[in-house]
Amino acid sequence: MDAAADLPAANPIDVLAIAAHRDDVEQTCGGTLLRMAARGLRTAILDLTRGEAGTRGTADDRAREAAEAARLLGVTWRDALDLPDGSVENTLQNRIKIAAVLRRLRPRVVILPYWQARHPDHAITGTLGYEACFLAGIKKYETDASPFRPYKIVYASLYADVRPSFIVDITPFIDQRHAALMAYQSQYANQAAGSGLFVPEEEIRERTFAEARHYGLLAGVKYGEPFVQKEVGLVDDLTLIPVQSI
Ligand SMILES: [Zn+2]
Repeated sequence: MDAAADLPAANPIDVLAIAAHRDDVEQTCGGTLLRMAARGLRTAILDLTRGEAGTRGTADDRAREAAEAARLLGVTWRDALDLPDGSVENTLQNRIKIAAVLRRLRPRVVILPYWQARHPDHAITGTLGYEACFLAGIKKYETDASPFRPYKIVYASLYADVRPSFIVDITPFIDQRHAALMAYQSQYANQAAGSGLFVPEEEIRERTFAEARHYGLLAGVKYGEPFVQKEVGLVDDLTLIPVQSI
């Protein structure tokens, strides 16, 4: 992984996933990032917090684990901002911090968490990320790179009880996605700290595979990840609609 500043401008990121916490992406869209990387696309992850408020592990533990998960997901770049874990807020200062990264990476597509969620950090990241994408295109907010807006924003909706707009087939990548999640040993390995609060390691595989199976079934594949897009699609030729349905 390179620092953002080292990324050549001529070779921007294709897909950037933005999430509140280290290990969110591994659960909601890690299979999709693997699939995009397998297609030759350049993928990246921006986590907004560093995990200092977690019951288990330190921020340093999570940084090491996040780097290993990034390697397993085949992403080109990963970094974490310094927003406070547990109280992510949609402020102008935070929008500018994210916009500065967007302008450097210049991703064609941005994945955000769905804008309604049980955990406030997840919900706020959905709206904060959207507004940062908008702000990144406005000239008067100066950062070290020129204004830019992504072509498309999609929302990873795994945590939300909503009907997805589309599913990405992650069947060939489900085991690798699981390996990336398990890279967070400080969170998911069985241990005394928080044992009444956390799901046992053996159950995580069953739960995450069952969720992926549920969403896969909606689209007629084995394992899938769900996404919502806000915009209505424009169709030119009904015979060329790319999304299959059953
Ligand atoms: Zn989270």
